[in-house]
Amino acid sequence: MRGVIMNAPGEVVVAERPDPVIVEPTDAIIRLTATCICGSDLWPYRGTEHADHAPMGHEYVGVVEEVGADVATVKPGDFVVGSFVASDNTCEICRAGYQSRCVHNVMMGGIGTQAEKARIPLADGTLVATPGQPDADLIPSLLAASDVLGTGWFAAVAAEAGPGKTVVVVGDGAVGLMGVLAARQLGAERVIAMSRHADRQALAREFGATDIVEERGDAGVAKIKELTGGLGAHSVIEAVGTQESLLQAIRSTRPGGHVGYVGVAHDGVALPADELFFAEVHLLGGPAPVRRFLPDLIRLIWDREIDPGRVFDLTLPLDRAAEGYDAMDRRTATKVLLTF
Ligand SMILES: [Zn+2]
Repeated sequence: MRGVIMNAPGEVVVAERPDPVIVEPTDAIIRLTATCICGSDLWPYRGTEHADHAPMGHEYVGVVEEVGADVATVKPGDFVVGSFVASDNTCEICRAGYQSRCVHNVMMGGIGTQAEKARIPLADGTLVATPGQPDADLIPSLLAASDVLGTGWFAAVAAEAGPGKTVVVVGDGAVGLMGVLAARQLGAERVIAMSRHADRQALAREFGATDIVEERGDAGVAKIKELTGGLGAHSVIEAVGTQESLLQAIRSTRPGGHVGYVGVAHDGVALPADELFFAEVHLLGGPAPVRRFLPDLIRLIWDREIDPGRVFDLTLPLDRAAEGYDAMDRRTATKVLLTF
């Protein structure tokens, strides 16, 4: 099969890879219908993370081709969506709703789903079948549920977005935009998107942002305070992962408020404990337990109540994946869909 390999930072190729086979009786093999490039794929692309002939990709939708002997909930022919972390969905951590930290978790990035086929471990706990074969126009939205929508949704839930709440979203990448959509769906009264790019501001408004703040850092915090009677927001979604954005999120939150952080933090990001002490805010974040939300997200997409697929602004065939990485690296694309 064909699949994306990152030979070294900045060097992406589409190469022949061995077809996946059932290894464990709990595995399924899927043929991908679509896959995509994640903002987190840019970390190795830019050399911030190690990359040495690594298979790439962790987002996926597709059709089950084969299942192991112990798989009971999906069968060949089913159209399925799964999380970027495989989970058994039965351990104590999973049952509490934190499937991304399942005691048996498998990061799909290690398997590499920017490929024609993929082995999905723990298929019963990981995959959710759609009610039938989806119309073609639903594929991008179902794919978004695999990570970027599920992650934005988790951030909004962690930030306790809901009726009567003012929600601030720090970060106007694909996850931040999905956070806007999620906050609105969860009933937030006001959703303030922090963005200085006209195209992303427009998309944020389409997804339900009521206000746009262009300032960042201390000036951004001051603007949020000004818009919230000097108190700060009830709920803040952080979707970047840098020191500046995390502090901006915490400082934009009122005492007693909630921060949901899903931007992947890297080495060197450290929060001052004295400031955290007096901020008196709730902090919850990490790799999103997408599996918790998948059944609801699939239903909302299937019933055409949400259209998160609009977050993809460039579609390329898999063979041109390198162009997709380049476009996201140069920020000429927000999120790239790869087709077969
Ligand atoms: Zn588990």
